[in-house]
Amino acid sequence: MVDRRNFLAAAAAAGTAGAAEDQPVRATPLRADYFGTQYYDEKERAELMEVLETRRPFRWYGSGSKPPMKVLTFEKEFAARMRTKYALAVTSGTAALQAAVAALEIGPGDEVIMPAWTWHSCCSAVVLAGALPVFAEIDESFNIDPGDIEHRITPATKLIMAVHLQGNPADLDRILPIARKRGIRVLEDCAQSVGGSYKGRPLGSLGEIGIYSLQLNKTITAGEGGAVATSDPVLFERAARFHDVGGLRGPHEAAVGKPKLDPFVGCNLRMNEFSGGVLLAQLRKLDLIVGSLRANAKRVYDGVRDLPGIKFRKLPDPAGELGAGVFIEFKTKEVRDLFLAEMRKQNVPAGPPGGSVVLPALPYIENKRTIHPKWPSFTSERGRAIRYGAATCPRTIDILNRFAGPHLDPKFTPRDCADIVAAVRKVYPRVVKA
Ligand SMILES: *Cc1c(COP(=O)(O)O)cnc(C)c1O
Repeated sequence: MVDRRNFLAAAAAAGTAGAAEDQPVRATPLRADYFGTQYYDEKERAELMEVLETRRPFRWYGSGSKPPMKVLTFEKEFAARMRTKYALAVTSGTAALQAAVAALEIGPGDEVIMPAWTWHSCCSAVVLAGALPVFAEIDESFNIDPGDIEHRITPATKLIMAVHLQGNPADLDRILPIARKRGIRVLEDCAQSVGGSYKGRPLGSLGEIGIYSLQLNKTITAGEGGAVATSDPVLFERAARFHDVGGLRGPHEAAVGKPKLDPFVGCNLRMNEFSGGVLLAQLRKLDLIVGSLRANAKRVYDGVRDLPGIKFRKLPDPAGELGAGVFIEFKTKEVRDLFLAEMRKQNVPAGPPGGSVVLPALPYIENKRTIHPKWPSFTSERGRAIRYGAATCPRTIDILNRFAGPHLDPKFTPRDCADIVAAVRKVYPRVVKA
């Protein structure tokens, strides 16, 4: 299975033609890169230059006779791609979470259930709204365990955050009914799965509201950026007002028909036209990027599937997954770490689950640290009583300690994927036997 070209190169580099088993699969390290920026070309350049040359960097108005259209066009095409009625462009995924939490009217006294392993912003959006985060364990999909939600629901539970982590859709067939039965709403955090789908439907279109990040590490990017998608006109209006100091501008007013809300206290989370232009070009490449990621993931899965005893991350919808990584389960952290060390020797990148943190284990969350001692999240009886800390999510920590896998890249060639397969086939049987 060792690639002949790489084997010869490695042998030459080592100055000896030793046994193939002792040579790394690749002579030099294979490196996964950021997805979206690898696709930057004349399309992004043209969008960017147009904004520069027309001197219209602000989304709502500017000099010249034509109105700026980049962010607005991005919103229209994003909503069409996600199959929602509305989309709102904002400055980051974190901003998108705050706008969505505001749209859902979440505030002091409300509780929000989210996975213990996710990004800081899920928790901060809830705490900044004055509400209380409640953490549930993840399962072998790395997403919230649907079986660990119900006993955490109280009369104050207003929202479940279904976070589609590391490209893998959460099990919405189990999560949505738990919420709907009780009138609890579902926010889909698609930051790490932009372009993924669940049983044929774009992620973000199945719950009441979806949020996306367009930051460097995500599928498509302008460095920073975010979006909110929903088909509910009132949720859209509230998110749009929150993102623009409480007001609703002409094009958004036209989108919702007749405004239903009065102005209220909000933020400025508006996207600029430079970002809008770049993201428009990137959005038009989203299916190409996701298609390439998925094709590469399939090559790796198909190449190692027959290894005796191999178990992968749980995929609630294998066809909808993004394919950003192929994760393998190990019995202990020690075996997992040995696998990682041996893969590194093969010059084939692999890593543990990443891109998120075990939030309840962070000291600032365990100690309920906010910018003011009377913060409403933690001054209520329930807020004072709730306990966080690593001891509250042992299964999450255990699962994250026992999985690892190769990182994938949409620009990996079939030969690169064959090297990944060769490395796993070489290393996996050795480490599980050791
Ligand atoms: C990245 C990320 C966010 C926040 O997005 P930013 O654009 O970095 O603000 C939110 N949720 C999840 C799950 C993320 O991975």
